[in-house]
Amino acid sequence: MGYYSRQISKLIEELSGLPGIGSKSAQRLAFHILNMPLEHVEQLSDAIIDARRNVRYCRQCYTLTDEELCPICSSSQRDQKLIMVVEDTRDLAAYEKTQKYQGVYHVLHGAISPMLGIGPNDIKLKELMQRLQGEVDEVIIATNSSLEGETTAMYISKLIKPTGIKVSRIASGVPVGGDLEYIDEMTLLRALEGRVEL
Ligand code: ZN
Repeated sequence: MGYYSRQISKLIEELSGLPGIGSKSAQRLAFHILNMPLEHVEQLSDAIIDARRNVRYCRQCYTLTDEELCPICSSSQRDQKLIMVVEDTRDLAAYEKTQKYQGVYHVLHGAISPMLGIGPNDIKLKELMQRLQGEVDEVIIATNSSLEGETTAMYISKLIKPTGIKVSRIASGVPVGGDLEYIDEMTLLRALEGRVEL
């Protein structure tokens, strides 16, 4: 990239380190940014820095939030005894988009994957089991239908069974290996309503 001046090259290099951004996209973004009014660029960089500095895990459900307790966990409108277990915050957002789910969530931040060396202790599973010591009616496991998601669902259901708490799995019909995030709202609702007790 010797044909760009040092600071432009640096900007392109930083952008191309982001997921899904190849060197062509990085160049396009870099020149877009360079043509933006300085004020907008400052807003963009402030938003990135503020989010990175202030966003943390909700102390109850472990979703990403800028408060100690996320808006869902602190809402009196939500059924705090119904917990849906998802792999990440984007999955939570996908279910929230349907506006039909009235319970709360638990975000695992990953799934068990023996192949990648990710075990039960590498995701927020202990934290889920601690939560279940409170009053809980049902746990809905909504991990992805990938091999890792299914492995995680099976593992969790085995852990919960002895507690006597009802545990269910969202219905299949969610494409195998598909990230929940990319599935349309109707499919998500059908999966949720058609959930089966484990
Ligand atoms: Zn929360």
